[in-house]
Amino acid sequence: MTHEGPFLILNAMKYGVDKNGYYGSFGGAYVPEILYKTVETLRENYSQILDSEDFKREFSQLLKDYVGRPSPLYFASRMSEKYGCHLYLKREDLNHTGAHKINNAIGQILLAKRMGKKRIIAETGAGQHGVATATVCALMDMPCRVYMGALDVERQHPNVERMRMLGAEVFPVESGNKTLKDATNEAIRDWCCHPADTFYIIGSTVGPHPYPDLVARLQSVISAEIKVQLEQKTGRNYPDWLIACVGGGSNAAGTIYHYLEDTRVRIALAEAGGMGLESGRTAASLEIGTLGILHGSRIKVMQTEDGQITEPYSISAGLDYPGTGPLHCNLYESGRAQALAVTDEEALRAAFELTRMEGIIPALESAHALALLPKLKFKADDIVVLTVSGRGDKDMATYLKYYGKI
Ligand SMILES: *Cc1c(COP(=O)(O)O)cnc(C)c1O
Repeated sequence: MTHEGPFLILNAMKYGVDKNGYYGSFGGAYVPEILYKTVETLRENYSQILDSEDFKREFSQLLKDYVGRPSPLYFASRMSEKYGCHLYLKREDLNHTGAHKINNAIGQILLAKRMGKKRIIAETGAGQHGVATATVCALMDMPCRVYMGALDVERQHPNVERMRMLGAEVFPVESGNKTLKDATNEAIRDWCCHPADTFYIIGSTVGPHPYPDLVARLQSVISAEIKVQLEQKTGRNYPDWLIACVGGGSNAAGTIYHYLEDTRVRIALAEAGGMGLESGRTAASLEIGTLGILHGSRIKVMQTEDGQITEPYSISAGLDYPGTGPLHCNLYESGRAQALAVTDEEALRAAFELTRMEGIIPALESAHALALLPKLKFKADDIVVLTVSGRGDKDMATYLKYYGKI
């Protein structure tokens, strides 16, 4: 298995980013004046660094020996029978630190080092991206501050302890609703104060250009592996369906990256429906969001008519974000991908089902992707690849609360 076969250049492609940082009418880089130069320098350098032999060598080596890649592509036979298709699970849950986030964190810290940065900041919601960032900072001996909403610090205590043990400073954010959006605002504020020496490791395909493209390219290893693994297992290097959950969009971006232009492959994205689309307690921004600018990018966001961000809600902290990255906004609006909302309850049921049918306890986020299986219509010989973005250890308290009750 290789991680060579370098990153595709999407610029020339229909669904890729254009030279101004747009995916259709989404994306761009809306940053305060003080960050302009920093973001511009990143934009000028990232592509060339990612494509350099030296970067590719170090990145591939760490993905292999540190993360444990390639992650397996597992044929789920009992679930295949139940849903009338050939279902393969892409096992990002087996990565070091328990999710796909580590792929991106490693790539960005290697980039930060090559750009001469001395200090790392990050934002985190559930703590998965915070843990991944704290992990790579320990690995590379770089100081690290992670911004986290005070409410999330309380709710996600084991991950806070993990980050501290890894040597990161966890900074609780007391403003707003004390969750991910507020942590991101605070991280941007820090960045504004230290633009020269600080690298901001963003955890998803969000933020100003070039972040969405950078993160998508670092995660594209997922679909690069799927191609090779599917060819070996089925004699064909593309599936009929790709399924993934979307928060900001990074695991989905990695899953679909090398198939974006291949319209034989249908793409289904699972959004967090929360208590339901009509309930006012949801995070399904592709379906109910409207065009706005959030965290440096023009995307679909949940907002009031006068542009105040609506608080998102999902049982899954990793999907609890009021927007979706520009790549996915464009895929959805152009009809290339379909998006379906999954409620908390549907996600919980799907998690219990995978656990009992395949012996895999998924993250709550990944359970949203699994909950699409009963909603989609497959043909008996369809090959379906579904990304299990993370493992369920962090969600055990939630699972136990509902186990046997739904
Ligand atoms: C963070 C997270 C997500 C959501 O983020 P994306 O950028 O949309 O992938 C999904 N699954 C897991 C396990 C996560 O930790």
